[in-house]
Amino acid sequence: MKPLCVQVHPSDNVAIIVNPDGLPAGSVFESGLKLAEAIPQSHKVALAAIAAGQPVVRYGQTIGYANRAVEAGHWVREEMLELPEPPALDELPLATAIPAPLPRLEGYTFEGYRNPDGTAGTKNILGITTTVQCVAPTVDYAVRRIKAEILPRFSNVDDVVALTHTYGCGVAIDAPGAAVPIRTLKNISLHPNIGGAPLVVSLGCEKLQPARLLPDQNLRPAGAALFPVLEADPYVIRLQDHEHRGFGDIIAAIMRFAEKRLAELDQRRRHTCPASDLSVGLQCGGSDAFSGVTCNPAVGFAADLLVRAGGTVMFSEVTEVRDAVHLLTPRAVNEQVGRDLIREMKWYDDYLARGSADRSANPTPGNKRGGLSNVVEKALGSVAKAGASALMGVAAPGERPASKGLIFAATPASDFICGTEQLASAMNVHIFTTGEGSPYGLALVPVIKVSSRTALAERWHDLIDIDAGRIATGEATIESVGWEMFRLILEVASGRKKTWADHWGLHNTLAPFNPGPVT
Ligand code: CA
Repeated sequence: MKPLCVQVHPSDNVAIIVNPDGLPAGSVFESGLKLAEAIPQSHKVALAAIAAGQPVVRYGQTIGYANRAVEAGHWVREEMLELPEPPALDELPLATAIPAPLPRLEGYTFEGYRNPDGTAGTKNILGITTTVQCVAPTVDYAVRRIKAEILPRFSNVDDVVALTHTYGCGVAIDAPGAAVPIRTLKNISLHPNIGGAPLVVSLGCEKLQPARLLPDQNLRPAGAALFPVLEADPYVIRLQDHEHRGFGDIIAAIMRFAEKRLAELDQRRRHTCPASDLSVGLQCGGSDAFSGVTCNPAVGFAADLLVRAGGTVMFSEVTEVRDAVHLLTPRAVNEQVGRDLIREMKWYDDYLARGSADRSANPTPGNKRGGLSNVVEKALGSVAKAGASALMGVAAPGERPASKGLIFAATPASDFICGTEQLASAMNVHIFTTGEGSPYGLALVPVIKVSSRTALAERWHDLIDIDAGRIATGEATIESVGWEMFRLILEVASGRKKTWADHWGLHNTLAPFNPGPVT
């Protein structure tokens, strides 16, 4: 392979090395640029001399200021960059460059499960919600038995999933931050892929009582099902109820009600749904310097296709949007949506400040090994996932978006917390891009994993669903990989194709975001 580097924007003064083994000193690019030293793959080369104090430009944006003079052909390393100030939140342009609506895309459908609340499921799952961590091992035990002894009789149900978590008690449940985990658990309990109603297992003495978790639901207490109820009302089993004598009784009760609910879910069938019923959550994990060049722009192209088909696309990860927020507020469909976006940025700035942290805490050692110098460079690559359409709405952590189209759903960037919060925001398919590699997956929705580099896709051939690295080598384009992704979303949403994460059963633990105090 001849020496190859990628310059994203004409004004960039750095480019990243494409060759999988990096390049030795003396390598000459087609442009005539000669490497003065060896540079590893995905790390940055100076395309021109950069004087001390001058901006280092990638994506057409300043990712930092050189703290020493750098000659052309030299390696621009993390420690040579000073972090710029984040964009000031009070001076951002709001809705000043609203993108024109993209041409409508008609005729794309998937086979999904219709729900009474208007959402569509991409799986048919019995979800067993828990109000508190105390009951989690008991529910896990019951789920093992249900899967072995009952589920095989209900062939239309895909899975039984224990919705366990670390919240529910030992927390300041009325503190301001508590609304986030409670809303998150509530909305996950009503997720489209569990038919809108869970089985609820409660301990009895916990702070998060079932009626507090699901305040708008007509809960069906186990053993008192004599009053009229709707089919979709959740059953509640309380372990401390006097009727349960011993563990055997407790498990028998959970299994009895699981069987009732499984019989209800087994009646459901897939129906043809328009692609506008898709709600696709986007995030990256283990990013590298290629992420912003290959997988994330391809995701952005697929996001635009979904928006054009009338669907919902959510991008998240506040700390990876914060340094690119000035590129997003002009795209807000109106000033209010722009202000909502700023509200979420401010909330997170304050949250980090309370913990004596700032956004520079974001890049991981793996990100840096992958050539990402700082959070600014990471953010500029990350927001490429948001495509080019107007920003239609903003959801606070764990909220369901109020509109379709492109949505910013505020979450931490932490992979498993972001995924959990996007589940609460009712995503029914998840796209996860990675450069360094993560075997991440979620039980409730299919997770399509996209690699930024071909080397990762080859090494993890049975974990990565789409290789976007072909974009860097010129074997594929952003458009072709974007279409491939869009079509795979429809196949996976219809249950016709399995993601690798589902093939292996790789399902990360739910991790609701809890910014509130623990007691
Ligand atoms: Ca992430």
